[in-house]
Amino acid sequence: MLFRLLIVFSILVLWAVQPARAVTVNGDGPEATDAQGVPSDPKTGSLKPVKIGVLAFRGREQTLVHWTATADYLTKSISGYRFDIIPLTLGEMEEAVRDEKLDFALTNSGHYITLADRYGGSRLVTMNAKGPTSQENLTGSVIFTRADRTDISKLDDLRGKTFMSVAPQAFCFQTAKYRMREQGLNPHQDFKKLLFVGFPQDYIATAVMRGIIDAGNIRTGVLEAMAAEGKIKLSDFRILAQKKLEGFPYVSSTKVYPEWPFIKLKETDKALSQRVAIALLSMAPDSKAAKMGQYAGWTVPLDYSPVHSLFRSLKEGPYAGLSELTLASFFSEYKEWMILAAALLLISWLWVARTERVVARRTGELARANAALGEEMAERRRVQELARQRQSELSRVAEMNSMGELASGIAHELNHPLATIANYARGCIRKMRSGKENKDELLDVLQRVSDQADRASQIISGLRDSMRDDKHTRIKSDINQIIHEMSDLLEFDLMNSQTRLELHLSNSLSFANIDPVQIEQVLLNLVRNAIDAIEAADPAERLITITTSADGEEKLLICITDTGEGVAETVRKKLFDPFVSTKQEGMGLGLSISCSIIKDHGGLMWIGSTSTKGSSFCFNLPSGDRHEG
Ligand code: ADP
Repeated sequence: MLFRLLIVFSILVLWAVQPARAVTVNGDGPEATDAQGVPSDPKTGSLKPVKIGVLAFRGREQTLVHWTATADYLTKSISGYRFDIIPLTLGEMEEAVRDEKLDFALTNSGHYITLADRYGGSRLVTMNAKGPTSQENLTGSVIFTRADRTDISKLDDLRGKTFMSVAPQAFCFQTAKYRMREQGLNPHQDFKKLLFVGFPQDYIATAVMRGIIDAGNIRTGVLEAMAAEGKIKLSDFRILAQKKLEGFPYVSSTKVYPEWPFIKLKETDKALSQRVAIALLSMAPDSKAAKMGQYAGWTVPLDYSPVHSLFRSLKEGPYAGLSELTLASFFSEYKEWMILAAALLLISWLWVARTERVVARRTGELARANAALGEEMAERRRVQELARQRQSELSRVAEMNSMGELASGIAHELNHPLATIANYARGCIRKMRSGKENKDELLDVLQRVSDQADRASQIISGLRDSMRDDKHTRIKSDINQIIHEMSDLLEFDLMNSQTRLELHLSNSLSFANIDPVQIEQVLLNLVRNAIDAIEAADPAERLITITTSADGEEKLLICITDTGEGVAETVRKKLFDPFVSTKQEGMGLGLSISCSIIKDHGGLMWIGSTSTKGSSFCFNLPSGDRHEG
């Protein structure tokens, strides 16, 4: 506590010995009076005032003493203008530049970089500092302690010590800080106390010399200047981390950077700036202005990129924002955007998650549907296989049925001629055994046997043709003649059944294009059915009538009527279906086959009506040419 009070007191004393000077910088004219007799009131002359802000690193008085001659030089060199020096601290200069109250500025390299970045401006020329070598347009920083401080011989020894510098943003402190960082020392953390005392920098050298502070730093050349002025002795100081810089005339602890630039501010007239630059470059190193300013004239602007590199490393000046770019600062600056991005991210994530869920669900459904479809297809294949098997069984059954039907048909059709042949043969045998045979009679019977055998043969070939699905040979035939021939064949049956046969045949229309064998077969079937049906009737009433007549102009109508028992009600409706029979040994095929044959000839068959007891079966056929006879 006592130590702190001592430091504060010492600083106050040091400030007190400096002449207080109020400096205002406004646009009304040159406020700073100077000792060189330059008119300070613009109303006294027509010269246009031009303000040059100068960093008063060694105090305001010192600054005016040094730089007023330069202002006068410019006033003399550039007609129509009066140049004034405004000594300013770092902060004051920044304010003045910001408020556009200066036309030109002279400050250290680091400050220039910062001002140019914030408010615009450009260097016109670089100062050549006065010195014994040619490298006087460079500057650095010197870190020092008292020569008798045996405990401090290197930068690292400064840990836990007190340290003094100009200001955090003073270029000499920034270069020193960079040097300390290189050596692993952090001035903001590792010192017991870090004090910034502002300008003039002479205070720092004095404070160290007097033992008020352990160590300090100022810009290069100041110690030498103070020594030249007799204020200090260089041997009283120990330079820390000294760099050997070939050709550089001052002690330095750091690298060196371009000297002060003469800066044209953003709004300053270009033509005037050009004239100022020319005037400064034309200044002789030994001119009064240079001598007073303790510099050696001006040179073309140097490359200030090393200063940029320094600031970039320190994250200060124009790069100060970088050091603040912490997660928290970034978040606070871009809070809204980050919240929006997070919300979008969340929405996207939710959407993706939802989509994935939906896809998973749909995939599951699809898999299940596929499985179900697979099962259904397997079931269908199974059913189709069953259907195919059933079909093939049915086909086999149908085949068997057809074969059975065919066999039955053959049997049915051949039954009659064979029975007739057998009857005639038995009759012949009987006659020959009795010895009463008559040759002519026998020949007649044998002829009939032969006819029936031919007929059987014709039936078989007819069936074969129908199986081949060939069209039967249609011959223009006389239906009446077929009826007569058929009657002859039935003679034996009629006689046996004691039945009379009456023919009522029309001669007007009897020709038709027919298969005579098939039509004869139909007639035989119908007459045989009639004979069967008539058995129950009294022999005196047993009568079968065959009539032919015209059925319209186009057709022949044939009816076979009997006096039998009539068609049983049970079979009436399905009489023409195959295998429908009321007879014990009947096959139920006669009517079915007959009906097919008639249909095949383009006719129809039906049960006709009878006036008396019995039945009437009729059919019609398309007529052929009219009978000529
Ligand atoms: P099947 O003579 O072998 O029985 P059909 O097809 O010729 O076969 O006759 C079928 C049935 O029609 C007969 O069983 C019989 O009941 C009946 N039918 C046929 N013709 C007559 C008829 N003229 N009178 C009475 N019934 C008949």
